[in-house]
Amino acid sequence: MNVEFSSAPFGGLASDEPAAKPTRNIWQSVKRGLAGKCPNCGTGKLFYRYLKVSDRCPECGEEFFHHRADDAPPYLTILVTAHIVGTGMVATSSIAPDLPLIYQMTIWPALTLVLSLILLPIFKGGLIAHQWALRMHGFETAAATVRIPADP
Ligand SMILES: [Zn+2]
Repeated sequence: MNVEFSSAPFGGLASDEPAAKPTRNIWQSVKRGLAGKCPNCGTGKLFYRYLKVSDRCPECGEEFFHHRADDAPPYLTILVTAHIVGTGMVATSSIAPDLPLIYQMTIWPALTLVLSLILLPIFKGGLIAHQWALRMHGFETAAATVRIPADP
C-alpha cells in the first residue's frame, strides 16, 4: 500500500494558498465610522449625502458597497433617543409638575426629531465601520491582500 502525504497536512497553508489577511483595528475603525470617515484611511467621507453611503472611499478607494447596515442604525437611534426623551419626560413631570402642557408638547417632539437626525448617521457610520473591521458580508474579500482569480 502506497500512501502519499500532501505538503500541508491537517489544514495547514499550502504554497498556493493566499496569505492570511491582516487584522483590522476594530475600535479605531468604529471611531472613524462614527465620525463619518472611511474606516480604512480615516480621511475620506463615508457618506456622499445624509445617509447615502459612497461606493468607494474618495481618498483610498476602499469599497463600501458591501455594507449591510439594514435596520440596526434606526434601532440604535430609537433605543438611545427613547431613553433620553423618556427620562426627560418623567424627570420633568416630577421636577416641574405644573409646567404647561404646550411646553411639553413642543420640547419633547422637537428633541426627539433633532436627536434622531443627529444620531442616525453616527450609528450607521459606526455600524458600517464595525462590519468592515470584522470583514463581515462582502467586506471579507474587499481590499484583500491577494485576489484569487476564479477557476475557469
Ligand atoms: Zn479611505
